[in-house]
Amino acid sequence: MRKINILDPLTANQIAAGEVVERPVSVVKELIENSIDAGSTRIKVYLEEGGTKRIQITDNGWGIEAQDLPTAVQRHATSKIISFDDLNSLSTLGFRGEALPSIAAVSKMTLSSRTEESPVGFSLQVEGDQISDLREIGSPVGTEIIVDNLFYNTPARKKFLKSPSNELGMVSEMVGRIAISRPDIAFELVHERRTLLKTPGNHNLSQVIFSVYGNEITRSLTKVEYKHGPLIRGYISNVQTTRSTRQYYNFYLNGRFIKSKDLSEALEEAYHTRIPQKRYPIAILFFEMAPELFDANVHPAKLEVKFKDFQPIKEALIHAIHNALNDPSVSIPQIKTN
Ligand code: ADP
Ligand code: MG
Repeated sequence: MRKINILDPLTANQIAAGEVVERPVSVVKELIENSIDAGSTRIKVYLEEGGTKRIQITDNGWGIEAQDLPTAVQRHATSKIISFDDLNSLSTLGFRGEALPSIAAVSKMTLSSRTEESPVGFSLQVEGDQISDLREIGSPVGTEIIVDNLFYNTPARKKFLKSPSNELGMVSEMVGRIAISRPDIAFELVHERRTLLKTPGNHNLSQVIFSVYGNEITRSLTKVEYKHGPLIRGYISNVQTTRSTRQYYNFYLNGRFIKSKDLSEALEEAYHTRIPQKRYPIAILFFEMAPELFDANVHPAKLEVKFKDFQPIKEALIHAIHNALNDPSVSIPQIKTN
């Protein structure tokens, strides 16, 4: 017979990290979501070596109180839900209380924050299972999280990382997708000395799309607006502008970026015969529907959703796209380049 042990917290967190933190882009996504949940209007992401050496996220949200800083890095510590039923009325991107402890378990993390009520900020370092004492710092209201040397203590994970430029590409794509979902937030992505993305945060979606995708794509877009059944709005490319990959599919469900094979296939069905084979459209589509119609809690990364009855959604999407492609009167969004 073998003796049964309860895993120590560091080991448990390193195992949990495998599901939440696969690579720099997953860290960036989780930390940006936290910044958004904290009511930030400015979020800056700074990276070194594609995020493998350093990821630094600075926001101007409401911050974390000094006494809560050591709690925030504990497993299942969240300010966003209290009971399972709260998931039915969830208005935040996070709720699992897993990101900070998972990231801290596989990196050297520094967490600094100041709330409006406090004249000074406080900072805390986590390395392995060691949590430092709080240190007083001068800082503006908001939170800054620095994640150094990702996977330094889990070499098997580190081996799966791609080159810094590959990792950077994934981060850049994700920040662009999230920025599109929140035109009211000013995002900035800087890699070493290079600014890769900067959005104005002035509520203008077409300006964000312009910042992320540039002029050619933006000018090719046609507006989508559909109000029968699930609400669908956004932009899709005209039939002349296609791409060789599905990388330009952006689906958002109730404001959250999601991946969905169902939606991708429906999109392609709608374009079928209108664009050449092996070419793919550009789509930025926001779906609004009642939370009972899908399940968002199918995977820790929260990227995939399960629709309970996809048929009506599929029909609505195909209609919405045909309407948009057949009506040239609603084309190019207004772009102001400042
Ligand atoms: P979750 O987001 O699921 O609640 P996390 O581990 O990501 O879990 O974060 C734990 C808690 O730390 C959050 O519930 C929140 O209270 C706090 N927190 C994390 N990041 C920030 C931030 N940028 N600003 C304010 N509070 C934050
Ligand atoms: Mg979170």
